[in-house]
Amino acid sequence: MHCPFCSENETKVIDSRLVSDGHQVRRRRECLACHERFTTFETAELVMPRVIKSNGNREPFDEQKMVKGMLKALEKRPVSADSIDLSISTIKSQLRATGEREVPSDLVGNLVMEQLKELDKVAYIRFASVYRSFEDIREFGEEIARLED
Ligand SMILES: [Zn+2]
Repeated sequence: MHCPFCSENETKVIDSRLVSDGHQVRRRRECLACHERFTTFETAELVMPRVIKSNGNREPFDEQKMVKGMLKALEKRPVSADSIDLSISTIKSQLRATGEREVPSDLVGNLVMEQLKELDKVAYIRFASVYRSFEDIREFGEEIARLED
């Protein structure tokens, strides 16, 4: 990383140790140009990525909103609460596993559709018809035909 004092990009680590019960690495660095010393902390980023909407706006990942959409599609379907919870945590792990700080909202939608497809075909079609807003009835029929294969 760049030296915060002179912006030189060559710095060396002069000390490195685990802190916060091993959840963080503290590094003491020295700038090779101005010899100033500074400290960096490294932690695993486990926060959810932010979501880039189709209009380019960024917003925090909204679990409630995602769950609400899924539950609406699953209304009156024979799917247990446990299976739904498992799907939700799978989607969240997949989003974290991208390692990205921002992901397109399409990715979230596609992950939800993948899970719904496994859970219940009717819920999947309900969600997809809203989410993908099928252009016409033929496209909708094609999607159903694909599922029946
Ligand atoms: Zn420097």
